[in-house]
Amino acid sequence: MINIVLFGAPGSGKGTQAKFLEQKFNLKQISTGDLFREHISQKTDLGILAESYIKKGHLVPDDVTIQLLQTALEKETDGQGYIFDGFPRTRAQAEALDILVNSTFNSKINICLALKVEDEELIKRLLKRGESSGRADDANENIIRERLAEYYAKTADVAEYYKNQGNYVEILGKGSIEEITEQLSEAIEKNL
Ligand code: ADP
Repeated sequence: MINIVLFGAPGSGKGTQAKFLEQKFNLKQISTGDLFREHISQKTDLGILAESYIKKGHLVPDDVTIQLLQTALEKETDGQGYIFDGFPRTRAQAEALDILVNSTFNSKINICLALKVEDEELIKRLLKRGESSGRADDANENIIRERLAEYYAKTADVAEYYKNQGNYVEILGKGSIEEITEQLSEAIEKNL
């Protein structure tokens, strides 16, 4: 089993790359953002609560998000490995992920792959995505800037968590999608 954390700011390309890596390595993507959006479209209590944070560009509180992930993992029985996209976003989530992957699969996080992209490029990409994604949090530059502020205030430090574990690899998220997939793949293969 191989478990990957795909890390990076909003708009850095985590979701796009996760789709390619899923295919290439026979892994399953778990995106907390997608899980929240499913709850929002079904108007569950969790969805209504999450939406109140997401529409402001804020992180959903840790207890809610960790519970969401735990429920998702409990449904997984036969996966060969997972790509965590958009989780962890805080140190508490990173610690919880180690515990959950251990207790659910008797496994661990093998590598954290971080996509680095400049802020101005992130904002450009997110505004462009907002034209077609239907995501309210992509359509407004103030919300995007708030998400980036949350990233720097709460999430960026998660990199230190994985650096301390010695399994952090940084990749420049600039260039073609294929080139970036190639670099991510090389980093994964070194860790297989
Ligand atoms: P992006 O990476 O483009 O911001 P996501 O789909 O990963 O998009 O996340 C959308 C929103 O969902 C985030 O801005 C945040 O409000 C919420 N969210 C997703 N994952 C988490 C998480 N692990 N912790 C807290 N909030 C989260």
